[in-house]
Amino acid sequence: MTFQRPSFTTSAILLRRIDYGERDLILSFLTRERGKISAIAKGGKNSVKRFGGILEPFYGLTIVCQAGRGRLPILKEAALIHPLSKIREDVEKTAYASYWTEVIDRWVQEGKPVEAVYDLLLYALEGLEGDRMPPTALSILFQMRFADLAGFCPDLIRCNGCGTEMVRMDGQRLAFDIPRGAILCSGCAAGAKRAVYLCKGTIKQLLWTAAGDLDRAARLRFSPLSIREGLGLLEAFLPYHLGVTPKSLGFLRRIRHV
Ligand SMILES: [Zn+2]
Repeated sequence: MTFQRPSFTTSAILLRRIDYGERDLILSFLTRERGKISAIAKGGKNSVKRFGGILEPFYGLTIVCQAGRGRLPILKEAALIHPLSKIREDVEKTAYASYWTEVIDRWVQEGKPVEAVYDLLLYALEGLEGDRMPPTALSILFQMRFADLAGFCPDLIRCNGCGTEMVRMDGQRLAFDIPRGAILCSGCAAGAKRAVYLCKGTIKQLLWTAAGDLDRAARLRFSPLSIREGLGLLEAFLPYHLGVTPKSLGFLRRIRHV
């Protein structure tokens, strides 16, 4: 009787692929059941026959892995369950999908259960594929929800200095302190080290986006100003808390039209 190493099957979104030697790939996946995992695809670099060219970032797959002799499981089979051809055909959509997957790849640690993060990424990718909402608004939705799940949701309710509620603050534009992750009233904003400024209308829209049912939040319509301010805030805030600016964010900013 030959010893069969244990294997497992799971749905997975490919976050990152790295060439390993002449023929192999090391892949980073987000799975619903097992959190983030890495696996090696032997011969995956050139084997169109075996993996059919589906080992591409942000593709949704069903994968079968077998425990390897070394540290990494070996990818034995992969089947495409979420073809994202409309994202692939559109450079701006590809840039957004790349940014979201890089944020998750950098933040999520291997082996931790992250079902809600998996569901959020899948929702955002399917929304991008199906034109559920403009990519800019979808990116605001993704980033607000991700920050909440990652435990650093921006505090947009009250002043971080004196506790005054946002709705009672003077002025239409309010400061958001990036390091403190919270809004400040005009009196407290003088001490802010690194602030961005937002209209109250934008702040209210961000709050609606962050809460409740995803489908209801996805029906929100943002004004062009709220889109610019919301993206400006979140694309400064997330990298600050990740401790690094994702490479894909630089590319996204160069090619998009906002
Ligand atoms: Zn204050």
